[in-house]
Amino acid sequence: MLQAYRDFGIREEVLKLGEAVENDLKERFSKIDQTAEYCQLKVLKAMQEHRVSEGCMEASTGYGYNDLGRETLEAVYASVFHTEDALVRAQITCGTHALALALSANLRPGDELLSPVGKPYDTLESVIGITPAPGSLKEYGVSYRQVELLPDGSFDYDAIRSAINEKTRLVEIQRSKGYATRPTFSVTKIGELISFIKSVKPDVICMVDNCYGEFVEKIEPTDVRADLCVGSLIKNPGGGLAPCGGYIVGKKEYVEQCAYRLTSPGLGKEVGASLGLNRNFFQGLFFAPTVTAGALKGAVFAANLYERLGFKVVPNGTESRHDIIQAVTLGSAEGLIAFCKGIQAAAPVDSYVTPEPWAMPGYQSDVIMAAGAFYQGSSIELSADGPLIPPYNVYFQGGLTWYHAKLGILMSLEEMARAGCVSL
Ligand SMILES: *Cc1c(COP(=O)(O)O)cnc(C)c1O
Repeated sequence: MLQAYRDFGIREEVLKLGEAVENDLKERFSKIDQTAEYCQLKVLKAMQEHRVSEGCMEASTGYGYNDLGRETLEAVYASVFHTEDALVRAQITCGTHALALALSANLRPGDELLSPVGKPYDTLESVIGITPAPGSLKEYGVSYRQVELLPDGSFDYDAIRSAINEKTRLVEIQRSKGYATRPTFSVTKIGELISFIKSVKPDVICMVDNCYGEFVEKIEPTDVRADLCVGSLIKNPGGGLAPCGGYIVGKKEYVEQCAYRLTSPGLGKEVGASLGLNRNFFQGLFFAPTVTAGALKGAVFAANLYERLGFKVVPNGTESRHDIIQAVTLGSAEGLIAFCKGIQAAAPVDSYVTPEPWAMPGYQSDVIMAAGAFYQGSSIELSADGPLIPPYNVYFQGGLTWYHAKLGILMSLEEMARAGCVSL
């Protein structure tokens, strides 16, 4: 084993440290496996209930009328998330698109959108119009309000109550921290927030940005009364096999609005060729609980390894997990770049390239991204990224297998050590 790691340039000190950390994590890993086991059964049951068949794997083209696979897939998603309806499409290009779709489909001029959990994910700033952008909700007369979290990361219930007004139509709750160092919320916590919001204004739509959260817990936000739940298929629920796509699950009337917006009023869910992707979507969902578990183990391992070396990590080594993202505060641009180089060098694809900081569309500062993925930008695959601004946080996620995640993290440490950014 030592030689196999040495072949990747990993020195014995690094491996020893990694093995010591891993040894202490047996109990955590076994809990993660239990969640994966439960979610595997949930997914399988839904597939059987909806009679997934060989015919579901076939491709439709053109308009895509009567696509058995697409319709069955959407029924399966609705079952897994315990919702009335689902929209699961290759034509939803990414997570941001899925969120923009759900928002623009369910908001009308004069309505107000509220984020009760502080600033939303960077790319939503243009969608909402926080940063002026053509086509933003703001241009269509949808106003926006945001309530910051309290300093300890909890919800500011008083401020949320006073922010809700007669115009408030939709509340967007982001489960995962994204590019922030606030805590990720557990599904239970999200449920408390939704109950509170509905007690203040029962008819408000509660929508959850579920990116990176799927299958990390046994329950999903739709199990605690979220009206809509939205995510990307090149994250957890695609299981690494979905090459693109997004999903929206929730109450029928709200999901239908999304379908009318995605395709056209009058057409809705009836059109949208699946182009041979149904198999990837089904098989990806089938693998998603296991793949998510591998990524989660990687995140827990990284937290404990870097914490032991004196770095600030969010979440910390022991706290419970509600998404697959691990933030590590590296403290220097050199550290951030070295970390990303290590992740890149561990990849199955493009392992020989060197990641460089770059200006990315939708982001406010230069960003460095490491990814050697089978699918472009897939972040359920091992990847790391971070904005080139102090305190130089890296956001690490994914790994289709735990062993790959482990190798990537050890290589990140090896690169950091070589760059003089950490002493072992
Ligand atoms: C990834 C992510 C998004 C956006 O997804 P893209 O597919 O990159 O557009 C939105 N919200 C959160 C919390 C995310 O992690």
